[in-house]
Amino acid sequence: HYIAMQQERLLKVLVIGDLGVGKTSIIKRYVHQIFSQHYRATIGVDFALKVLNWDQQTVVRLQLWDIAGQERYGNMTRVYYREAVGALVVFDMTRFSTFQAVLKWKGDLDAKVALCNGRPVPVVLLGNKCDQQRYGLCSKLPKLDTFSREQGFVGWYETSAKDDTNIEAAITCLVENIMSSS
Ligand code: GDP
Ligand code: MG
Repeated sequence: HYIAMQQERLLKVLVIGDLGVGKTSIIKRYVHQIFSQHYRATIGVDFALKVLNWDQQTVVRLQLWDIAGQERYGNMTRVYYREAVGALVVFDMTRFSTFQAVLKWKGDLDAKVALCNGRPVPVVLLGNKCDQQRYGLCSKLPKLDTFSREQGFVGWYETSAKDDTNIEAAITCLVENIMSSS
């Protein structure tokens, strides 16, 4: 006999970037009502879960880790990064300083977590608030295709948590990379 086995994968994914770029809004947009504030007091980060029927054999339990105010210090503890298998690095398309911080966040991540095989965890770059005026920021931004490839991101998206633009696409891209890299 054949018994169809379903495997379940628990994926810890970090959402990092400067204060106010829209990390919490992105998570809330993506997860909708399944957001839990239950862990805030105990572990000092917000934590949301989305269950995906990834394919016929695989259920993905996607844990999205928010950082709830600690981003003002510009880096996170090793405990926060531990066992993460991927990340979204978010900047605000209307504030250039948040883009300048992107490599600091990526560097902090790569210094503190890696896959079992030693390779860096997959990271997708999000330019959030694309619904808004950019006040000339576009001219300052490097070509994000080139930038993201050179800096080791697996992809990049312009997103809007407000208008629900590319949030699902960006997270799906990340999960596809995670599933094929581990
Ligand atoms: P966090 O500090 O990175 O978690 O940022 P928040 O999610 O708290 O968002 C900071 C502010 O930006 C809030 O006032 C949000 O309503 C706003 N915001 C977040 N995402 C978007 C977006 O896509 N478009 C616009 N226009 N505002 C956004
Ligand atoms: Mg927040």
